[in-house]
Amino acid sequence: MAVSYPIVDHTYDAVVVGAGGSGLRATMGLAEAGLKTACITKVFPTRSHTVAAQGGIAASLGNMGEDCWQWHMFDTVKGSDWLGDQDAIEYMVREAPAAVYELEHYGVPFSRTEEGKIYQRAFGGMTTDYGEGPAAQRTCAAADRTGHAMLHGLYQQSLKYDSDFYIEYFAIDLIMEDGMCRGVIAMNMEDGSIHRFRSQSVTLATGGYGRAYFSCTSAHTCTGDGGGMVLRAGLAMQDLEFVQFHPTGIYGAGVLITEGARGEGGYLLNSEGERFMERYAPSAKDLASRDVVSRSISNEIREGRGVGADKDHMYLHLDHLDPAILAERLPGISESAKIFAGVDVTKEPIPILPTVHYNMGGIPTNYHGAVINPTPDNPDATVPGLFAVGEAACVSVHGANRLGSNSLIDLVVFGRATAHHIADTTKAGATQKSLPADSAEMALGRLDAARYSKGSRSTAAARLDMQKVMQTNCAVFRTDEVLGEGVKLIDEVAANITDVSVNDTSLVWNSDLIETLELQNLIGQAVLTMHGAYNRKESRGAHMHEDYPDRDDENWMKHSMSWYDGKDVKVGFRPVHSYTLTDEIEYIKPKARVY
Ligand SMILES: Cc1cc2nc3c(=O)[nH]c(=O)nc-3n(C[C@H](O)[C@H](O)[C@H](O)COP(=O)(O)OP(=O)(O)OC[C@H]3O[C@@H](n4cnc5c(N)ncnc54)[C@H](O)[C@@H]3O)c2cc1C
Repeated sequence: MAVSYPIVDHTYDAVVVGAGGSGLRATMGLAEAGLKTACITKVFPTRSHTVAAQGGIAASLGNMGEDCWQWHMFDTVKGSDWLGDQDAIEYMVREAPAAVYELEHYGVPFSRTEEGKIYQRAFGGMTTDYGEGPAAQRTCAAADRTGHAMLHGLYQQSLKYDSDFYIEYFAIDLIMEDGMCRGVIAMNMEDGSIHRFRSQSVTLATGGYGRAYFSCTSAHTCTGDGGGMVLRAGLAMQDLEFVQFHPTGIYGAGVLITEGARGEGGYLLNSEGERFMERYAPSAKDLASRDVVSRSISNEIREGRGVGADKDHMYLHLDHLDPAILAERLPGISESAKIFAGVDVTKEPIPILPTVHYNMGGIPTNYHGAVINPTPDNPDATVPGLFAVGEAACVSVHGANRLGSNSLIDLVVFGRATAHHIADTTKAGATQKSLPADSAEMALGRLDAARYSKGSRSTAAARLDMQKVMQTNCAVFRTDEVLGEGVKLIDEVAANITDVSVNDTSLVWNSDLIETLELQNLIGQAVLTMHGAYNRKESRGAHMHEDYPDRDDENWMKHSMSWYDGKDVKVGFRPVHSYTLTDEIEYIKPKARVY
């Protein structure tokens, strides 16, 4: 049934959805190339989740000791547990130093060394000499507020270019025609007006879907809206079973304590006062990669060595560090520890617990940001007019496990690369005026149904059901039994997801309505995460399956692809790119991943 709403039409050469680090970098690049560009964002640009990034951005500048892109590449491939595409990884690590200098020139206030160079700290899994040497100091930092500094720098720069920002507009669905993306439908949340953007390309930069889980470090806005739109367009998602748990979320609150805290010398202790990471990762210790540290903490707790009354968390100690260093390098987390745990970090340890932090999986793309939807004869087939960048995308540079500080660099490197690629393939002013007659039907049909929804419970209650199932059945430890039950439970939650009651029919600042649309976006990714985890019969990176404790390269070194039509899950696979981009480095062959 066609629903009629007045529609405001816009014509652009290029549209970007999202104004976090990746969306802003893409928008700037497109506008700089002379394309008429719109950036649509549901929150004010500088409130995007990128603002919360603390620790830093990885690039082999070598300011604090010898370093090179080849070592950064090795660490990223190893961190990915050989699920990362090595062509994309080579691209990222080689472009990384130039991308950081570009940010410096944009005015990002990096912390400095004595000689005035960009300060770099140690981060988990970042090493020298192909894992043989000591830890690398590769993570460029602006104290512990790197994302804040970066996002403000990028937003200020983007105002210099002639792009149009549609702020507090909620993108609802893509406009697709014959397998091609032709634009996007959005609602202005301030006045409820509906907007149709026609464009030669749409770049989704909508961030992750951390809010599918009960406890996560991501903002409430991280609801996987881009992934939801892609699934409704009948396209695939990739590797969703790989969800990163950050070892150190503040116990109870989930608020992040950056890995930079351990990079500056912090360490973990169990209830016996033991530095247990020495047992699990004898050389990297507290700076082993995130999946390893999260698993070790969970294991200590399961074996009864947790701290606190319920022995259900761990302590992170910073109290041995010089208070002056804490004040200079970690002011933000000192404040968070005080507010959220009531702890003075110069005197007491911080209570922590592994918490959902990052989605390695997402909308599959190549290193130009072009969205991939595999066909039977082409695993790398792309969707004309559709691009994705940042945490929403899966390039895949992070594979089965992302190294800390490799996301911020992913945002700017691929935001820029995507803009360049679109600029090379777009003719300014040549956007087709005609659109399919039903271009707004899916978006408005969904909006209308949600608006007048009179179901049996609140959207918040339905969301909580989903979050509890994900937290209980799809967390750090996974078995066939737990995941099998999870599949059943999440399918039930999904079957009833629209059985909600929205409390008023207004289109103006109706957060209940928006949260209902966001829940519809989250649920598809929750379902596919659970099914993907159940289907993958091996352990790799963040996906640790107790019944299959080893990595199985012969059968499972492949990307999981999945489609979801709101009812049925379809799965497939794509080969991992086992080649590099240039012949300046050889394919890094799989080996055991020990730290
Ligand atoms: C607490 C925390 C700390 C972190 N620290 C680090 C770190 O130190 N180093 C590192 O490398 N990584 C870090 N990460 C990861 C990294 O910050 C994120 O992966 C990255 O910032 C995501 O950026 P993005 O551009 O993909 O999206 P985001 O910054 O999440 O922005 C998403 C954008 O999409 C828009 N949007 C979404 N849906 C819609 C819609 N329907 N309509 C319109 N607009 C929409 C939003 O308005 C927003 O502008 C951290 C993450 C967290 C949560």
